[in-house]
Amino acid sequence: MDNIDEIIEKLENGEIKLHQLENIMESANKAADIRRRFIEKQSNTKLENIGSYSIDMTETSKKNIENAIGTIQVPVGVVGPLKIYTEDETIETYVPMATTEGALLASVNRGCSAIRKADNCHVSITNNQMTRAPAIKTKSVEAAKKLKNWINDNFERIKQEAETTTSHGKLLKIDPIAIVGRYVYPRFVYYTGDSMGMNMVTIATEKALSIIEEENDISVIALSGNLCVDKKPSAINMIEGRGKSLIAEITIPKDVVEKTLKTTTEAMVEVNYVKNLLGSAISGSYGYNAHFANMVAAVFLACGQDPAHVVEGSIGITSAENDDGDLYFSITLPDLPVATVGGGTRLETAVESLNIMDCKGSGKVERFASIIAGIVLAGELSLVGALAAGHLARAHKQLGR
Ligand code: NAP
Repeated sequence: MDNIDEIIEKLENGEIKLHQLENIMESANKAADIRRRFIEKQSNTKLENIGSYSIDMTETSKKNIENAIGTIQVPVGVVGPLKIYTEDETIETYVPMATTEGALLASVNRGCSAIRKADNCHVSITNNQMTRAPAIKTKSVEAAKKLKNWINDNFERIKQEAETTTSHGKLLKIDPIAIVGRYVYPRFVYYTGDSMGMNMVTIATEKALSIIEEENDISVIALSGNLCVDKKPSAINMIEGRGKSLIAEITIPKDVVEKTLKTTTEAMVEVNYVKNLLGSAISGSYGYNAHFANMVAAVFLACGQDPAHVVEGSIGITSAENDDGDLYFSITLPDLPVATVGGGTRLETAVESLNIMDCKGSGKVERFASIIAGIVLAGELSLVGALAAGHLARAHKQLGR
């Protein structure tokens, strides 16, 4: 079928559905073009910018999006070089960040400069796991307790079954197994290699559930029962970790605090205590930090990560201490679901962004996660520093009166 007006007419009168275009047209790119033209007509608007793009829709429309009409564009810039030390390597790299928030990259760049001058930013991965926790209905609390014991007793069999679905995924444990009334929530915890792993662990858990269902009088109410916890802020992710859990730490010499961050160690420690710790405590926040989400979102957008996981990446704690006048500063990032294979990392623009940091493909996910932790530390340093400088300036003004 190549008469475009004819196809649009069929879309209008419902003979063809929007999602069927990929089956009808000779290519997914053409299908996206026609769908966009149909939407332009329906909404009486022009979508020429959404329609100007370079990525190929062939795989994208199978793996990343339905009903494609084009792409959106978010400005992308770079910060750095960021210099960090991990257990395996010294990393010195520019980092791409996509955002619409003016001043964000300038601020993070200043943090990178302080990090380079101090030259002792260490990043550690403290945990590495992806989770899926179904909700299972049993007949009674007694039956729920029995099921929990059965799952614990049969862990090796469940693991074998789950791992038949993946060559990279490993079921590490099922823990905790929470009981609420007669419902059971087993949290399946997996190692997922270089993939973020949500599809992988969902498929593996579904397979594992088949033997649990076969041998117990239960019904699975939902494959995800929200103890996972996917794409929502939660205490369990903060404590147990999800995706990569990381800590980045640095000691900034007094003169770097003064010359680069234009403030003092004492002022930064005070701002961190009052804002990030006390302020977050009084608000019941899980984000004991200044703006983790800013850095996580900008790197995620540039690098094809699942943007909804920014909500998890926003969880964590910034600490600042006075070490004989120098500033000891750390960020603890317990919940960073990231990937260098699978998901949106295959998109052409994401590949290019990941390549800037040598982070594309197998064996790269720990490097990538470490770079994000370094960038989060840079952003925290700069914003806490700016607030502290403002606080100092105000104090000087008052004293001068
Ligand atoms: P995926 O693109 O579905 O799968 C990645 C696959 O790549 C793995 O399953 C693995 O195959 C293969 N692979 C090749 N080399 C690998 C390596 N070095 N390390 C690990 N795996 C390797 O991605 P996913 O990470 O499982 O899931 C990410 C997607 O899930 C994102 O698009 C995200 O938006 C979406 N998502 C899904 C859910 C959900 O509930 N389903 C929730 C949130 C997000 P084998 O398994 O055969 O080894």
